Amino acid sequence: MKMPKAFKSAVLNLFFPEVCMACSGILLHQESTICTKCLFHLPYTDDHLIPNNESFILMQGKLRVERAVSMLRFRPSSRVEHLIHQMKYANKPQLGKFLGHVYGTLLKEIQYFEDVDAIIPIPLHARRFAKRGYNQSEYFGMGSAQRLGKPMLRNVLYRAIHNATQTKKDLVSRAEGVDKFFRCSNELDLHDKHILLLDDVLTTEATLASAGNTLLDKFPGCRISIATIAKA
Ligand SMILES: [Zn+2]
Repeated sequence: MKMPKAFKSAVLNLFFPEVCMACSGILLHQESTICTKCLFHLPYTDDHLIPNNESFILMQGKLRVERAVSMLRFRPSSRVEHLIHQMKYANKPQLGKFLGHVYGTLLKEIQYFEDVDAIIPIPLHARRFAKRGYNQSEYFGMGSAQRLGKPMLRNVLYRAIHNATQTKKDLVSRAEGVDKFFRCSNELDLHDKHILLLDDVLTTEATLASAGNTLLDKFPGCRISIATIAKA
């Protein structure tokens, strides 16, 4: 006898209940990934409602940026840290997509990125990608792109230098304003386009500024905005 799918998953759930990725509590039948209580109580920044918010101010002077927002506030030993850790190191890329859905829905409500032409997630270096098997920012991008109704571009920006192999000379050239960390492919023409750059955590402005400036150099007239899952 073939077991109905719903019954099978109910039985499985009895022995291996799905848990909330933020608080590890058991999820209710209609919940997935993050429980309703956590979703409600996560420390949202409300950056998208605040002109000149902290994320925008952090980027200023390092990158000519249209808008910059972070979804959550990152604190050590918090639920947000637990989420980011699982997404990056515990093989839970779908969590990134889920968070992209949540943030994309919030931003779409007030048409915050309505004038954006394309979404580009910050790439991992090929070596790190091979080790991890996925790019968490890309999953965040997939979820956001779906809700915002914008295309996500994977093959425009790539990392030229592995973080662990940065040399002193690289750091000097970076200080001189010559960004060597990212490269652009010639596949697409993004002149005069508004690009939304996505990353997982905004810790310092360095990575996003470097990626953004690489795009500005390559495609004169383009505009850059920024969104991240969390802000340290
Ligand atoms: Zn929870």
